[in-house]
Amino acid sequence: MPVPSSDHNQTDNSWKSQAPYKQPSKEPPFTAVHIGHCHCGRIKFQIGRDAPLDAKLCHCRTCQVLHGAPFQWAAILHKEDMRFVHGVIGLKFYSSGRNVAEHELPCKVSCAYCGSPIMDEGRNMALIFPELIEFKDEEQMGKFAARCHMFYKERVVDIQDDLPKWAGMPKESELMRVGSSL
Ligand SMILES: [Zn+2]
Ligand SMILES: [Zn+2]
Repeated sequence: MPVPSSDHNQTDNSWKSQAPYKQPSKEPPFTAVHIGHCHCGRIKFQIGRDAPLDAKLCHCRTCQVLHGAPFQWAAILHKEDMRFVHGVIGLKFYSSGRNVAEHELPCKVSCAYCGSPIMDEGRNMALIFPELIEFKDEEQMGKFAARCHMFYKERVVDIQDDLPKWAGMPKESELMRVGSSL
C-alpha cells in the first residue's frame, strides 16, 4: 500500500464508512428499534437495540461546560448498535482532550447546524444522549433510565434519589454517602 511520505497531515478517513457513520441503507441487517434526531432535525440516527448496556448521569465539570447543563445523561452502546442516517454529513466533532475541532477519539459529536450534543464517541462505544430519542412510551424510556451518578463530587445540584453516587468514575472511586437512602 503506497504511503505518501511528504504529507504528515495525511488523515485516515476509514472511520467515515464504519459504525455509527455507515449508512443504514447500505447494509440490510440493521434494524432500527429507536430513532432520534437533533433539535433542527438535520441529524437523524437509529439505534438497533432495545436497551443500552448502561446509563449514567455525569456531573463532571467538562460535561457541565460542554452541555451548558448541571449534568449529562448518557446511555452506553456499542458503536455497531447505532447508525447516522446521513453518515457524517452535518456532524461536528470536538476532541475535548486536545481542544481541537477534529474527529480524534474520544470526541464529542454534535449537529453542526443547531449545536445539539448527540453523543460522546469512544473507540468502541458511543455514549449517546437519550433526550434526542423519540421514545414510543414511558416503558421504552425507562430502559434508558440512569443507573448511577458519576463525578458526583463535582455536582452543582444535589439529587434526591436512590441511585449510587460515585465521587468520580463508577466502581473506581468512593461511593458518596448522600441521597435519601444512605
Ligand atoms: Zn440540528
Ligand atoms: Zn462528565
